[in-house]
Amino acid sequence: MCLPACAGGGGGGDRSATGAVRASHVRGSGHPATDPAPPPLRTLRPGSVRTAEGQPRIVFDVTRVSSHSAPQFAAARAVWQNLGLPGLIDVHTHFMPANVLRKVRNHFDALGGLWPLTYRGDEDECLALLRGFGVRHFTALSYPHRPDMAAWLNGWAGGFADRTPDCLRSATFYPEPDAHDYVSAALQAGARVFKSHLQVGGYDPRDPLLSDVWGTLADSGTPVVIHCGSGPEPGRFTGPGPFAEVLGEHPRLTAVIAHAGAPEYTAFLDLAERYDRVHLDTTMVFTDFAEARAPFPSDALPRLADLHDRVLLGTDFPNIPYHYPEQLHALAGLGLGPDWLRAVLHGNAARLFGL
Ligand SMILES: [Zn+2]
Repeated sequence: MCLPACAGGGGGGDRSATGAVRASHVRGSGHPATDPAPPPLRTLRPGSVRTAEGQPRIVFDVTRVSSHSAPQFAAARAVWQNLGLPGLIDVHTHFMPANVLRKVRNHFDALGGLWPLTYRGDEDECLALLRGFGVRHFTALSYPHRPDMAAWLNGWAGGFADRTPDCLRSATFYPEPDAHDYVSAALQAGARVFKSHLQVGGYDPRDPLLSDVWGTLADSGTPVVIHCGSGPEPGRFTGPGPFAEVLGEHPRLTAVIAHAGAPEYTAFLDLAERYDRVHLDTTMVFTDFAEARAPFPSDALPRLADLHDRVLLGTDFPNIPYHYPEQLHALAGLGLGPDWLRAVLHGNAARLFGL
């Protein structure tokens, strides 16, 4: 079974090539040295967190996380509080049925220490961690690796969204005869984001069985987070070519390119510049881990700055080999300015999802 990392990173890379863009990047779970002392954790009392709509109340169950998490909470909160934001919106997080999650973790564990998972808690603990970091809204991305699986995943994700009001109702699909039917049903049930994973799924996005799916998603304006870059390992249909043809057929599709298209960053920047509904998510990009494997080309940073309204925070939580605040510090360390960072950490997703 192939359930690998949904993570950026390709072959070996020369991290020194991008060292210049990472000048103020602060590692680990500490907070930037220039920041004031982290805020007190009084906001983390149970019951203190609400949805943007004010209801229903979301309980932050502090008993679900160890006291070791407090420095991470403070580090994450310092980033968005110093920007004057109400919190974070993370468009690329993974919640899935327990047996699927177990297989995903087994996959990472089988890599022999190459991808040591930092977060290994159950669903309640992962939710408590996200809320502790100050994530106000997030997704529950799952994805099939074979036929006859997507509708079942969508059923699970619907139930998860029903009991998790800060989760954006998520769904997925696979090229199969009933794909359009269950995608339409998911939209009717309130799905707000879809996930497509070309490497794990091993399918061609140009498959005729998906033509109506792309068309319906384009018509509805529903974002689809698509892993179509060739990191951490290529698939038959990864890389910018196949998905560019889909965009040619469906130029109004609201696509969110996972991992900013790692490692083919510049080719996916081309697509984002050509199609104004194409977004990029930051998942793992610019972290030490990703920079060592698929460094972002420093000469492309101005293009990322220019796309300030279409770059979205994504992290891959909980399947990451470092602390969550590292992603935030990596983005802050790019030096693209507070307006860019506010848009990426919250504003762009708030607008895209109407939050
Ligand atoms: Zn992922």
